[in-house]
Amino acid sequence: MIIDGKKVAFSVLEELKDKVKKSVKKPGLAVILANDDYSSKIYVASKEKHSVALGYKSCIYRFDSSITQGKLIELIHELNENPDINGILVQSPLYPHLDENEIIELINPKKDVDGFHPVNVGKLFAGLNPYAICCTPKGIMKLLKAYDIELEGKNALVIGRSNIVGKPIASLLTNENATVTLAHSKTKNLKEHTKKADIIVSATGHPRLITADMVKKDVVVVDVGIIRQFDGRLVGDVDFEKVKNIASYITPVPGGVGPMTIACLMENTYELFLLQNKGQI
Ligand code: NAP
Repeated sequence: MIIDGKKVAFSVLEELKDKVKKSVKKPGLAVILANDDYSSKIYVASKEKHSVALGYKSCIYRFDSSITQGKLIELIHELNENPDINGILVQSPLYPHLDENEIIELINPKKDVDGFHPVNVGKLFAGLNPYAICCTPKGIMKLLKAYDIELEGKNALVIGRSNIVGKPIASLLTNENATVTLAHSKTKNLKEHTKKADIIVSATGHPRLITADMVKKDVVVVDVGIIRQFDGRLVGDVDFEKVKNIASYITPVPGGVGPMTIACLMENTYELFLLQNKGQI
């Protein structure tokens, strides 16, 4: 079965739209774009579009390369204090002269809509309730839940150990009682691991890393990778056309995890809005 990320994301967004419509006060999302990267500009535009569509207050701060670390720090302090802003997102990467880690650590963890602040990362790792869970891993968990995919006791293989996907999804799967293996570029004989996996979450950005001969029958495959090919087409880490005949469930690229990431960002903004306005909505 092909996991339809667009459909699940649509239902998350529709539910949010309904809730926001009923609320007099509206959630506010601030996005900071301090780089010249083409993909980042597209991601930020999409975040703005979704915020506006949901009736959120959307504030986009676009900077050229003359922006200083000091100015950015000032802005974070202002946004932390601004009651109309519930979520603060710093689009990664920043210009090379800026220190992204310092900026993230200055965000109030209750406004850290991306779930990247060490407080939220720590809470996730400890199995506690973070104020916000990183959007892509949260989206993956929602997809697995939407399709009633059992996790307890299953062998889950996560490929890729980035802070934004691999490590947090490994924690979330562990918290749901899966037996998790975390593989990366130094892992020896990846096929040995993929062959044993009941669930594979691949987040490497390496096109067609996972081929049909590497997976067992009825495996669940979540492909996080997004790679734009020379002809403009998007592909994932998985050889979708062949692996789909073996897997019980598989996410396509595009239309799988991607739409869930943005839907979860919108959901996180709403949840932080509720948290910051307890009892007043
Ligand atoms: P990243 O920070 O570059 O991390 C890639 C990870 O993959 C690293 O841990 C790396 O290992 C591992 N890796 C690379 N080649 C490998 C190989 N041949 N075998 C095993 N592991 C390998 O990337 P990321 O930010 O996590 O993103 C990964 C992919 O997901 C990208 O294509 C990105 O565009 C996509 N993505 C999609 C969404 C979405 O919403 N769908 C969201 C975020 C990211 P080392 O640690 O050893 O280097």
